[in-house]
Amino acid sequence: MRGSELHQLFRTHIGQTSPEPMGIEVASAKGCTILDQQGKSYLDLISGISVANMGHSHPRIVQAVQDQAGKYMHTMVYGEHIQSPQVQLARALTEALGEGFEQVYFVNSGSEAIEAAIKLAKRATGRFELVAFNQAYHGSTHGALSLMGSQQFSNGYLPLVPGVAHLPFNDIDALNEISCRHAAVIVEVIQAESGYLPADIEFLKALKKRCEQTQTLLIFDEIQTGYGRTGPLFAFQSAGLVPDMICMAKGMGGGMPLGAMATSKALMQHFTENPVLGHITTFGGHPVSCAASLAALQLWQEEIPKNRAQEIEARFRAQLAHIPNSHITGSGAMLALHLGDAQRMWNNVGKAWNQGLLIDWFLFNDQAFRISPPLVISDEEIDKATDILGNLLV
Ligand code: PMP
Repeated sequence: MRGSELHQLFRTHIGQTSPEPMGIEVASAKGCTILDQQGKSYLDLISGISVANMGHSHPRIVQAVQDQAGKYMHTMVYGEHIQSPQVQLARALTEALGEGFEQVYFVNSGSEAIEAAIKLAKRATGRFELVAFNQAYHGSTHGALSLMGSQQFSNGYLPLVPGVAHLPFNDIDALNEISCRHAAVIVEVIQAESGYLPADIEFLKALKKRCEQTQTLLIFDEIQTGYGRTGPLFAFQSAGLVPDMICMAKGMGGGMPLGAMATSKALMQHFTENPVLGHITTFGGHPVSCAASLAALQLWQEEIPKNRAQEIEARFRAQLAHIPNSHITGSGAMLALHLGDAQRMWNNVGKAWNQGLLIDWFLFNDQAFRISPPLVISDEEIDKATDILGNLLV
């Protein structure tokens, strides 16, 4: 099909979520490069929003997908049949997560992992109120949307799930608002859509302490930070404190749809009885997605040097330091270049695309670019990206 025809059909038949979609007609994607139907190549600094951590279509992940698809795909809803890729992945994840995470509940997406976590928190505590933070993004389903810290995006869907309080992010004093009424607090270790703003370690420690005092469960949303994006497999592992539950998705699937909530066996058992089938999903933990995820995890463990995310961060920071009126936030391969001016961002995003560099902005912050490349990005590719950005933004 010719490009113009494909574009027309996309606009006619695909449900549109913005008036001006990026509209790249993807022909193929390998490593850090996306090729369009016209043969133009793009260096990808977005990774499908922190998904392609191991690069696009890594041969080992493709092989795992093909092998598993040849054996079996969907056979039964989650939790009934014993599917080897699911079991192996759960074992590898719980081993990597360590004490307090003996079990994994697989779903298809980040939002669904959040839904599972907040349902489990309600069951386990007998409470229903929840705490989230201003500018937080936890997904688009009704429960996850209710946690969103931007009324601009959630007000169109009122009424939302009741009993959600939003507190200022990184404000230790505000944590006194957390009380014995709350089932759970949910927080991103690096707030994603406000522009990659890390939670202060002292804030996380105070949050953990307040949760212990009020017997409120602590849920970390590692949906964007997980699977090596910031350096360790999960960002909390360098923060030195452990939550009660972790939600993951995105990079976890190695390019396939997959999400999960991990927690202790004691907490997870609340889904087993009273009522039985406390949470159900038809496709959650699809064997092909789990095979891809296991391959991605093994690749990360075997082929990505442990300091690579920090090297990527250091190289971007050093080479973008000369850009006037700008600063960088984030950690590892999860960086934001803040320009302090929405017009400056909008003026340059299209120009970067024209020069073959794929960047984008944040849902709640259009004054910053996302720099979230695959972890397999080479030094030469970083240099190319920073040359383009440097020339555009001087
Ligand atoms: N939490 C965070 C931090 C996210 O970045 C996202 C996706 N952008 C989600 C939750 C929701 O994930 P999904 O789109 O897979 O439902």
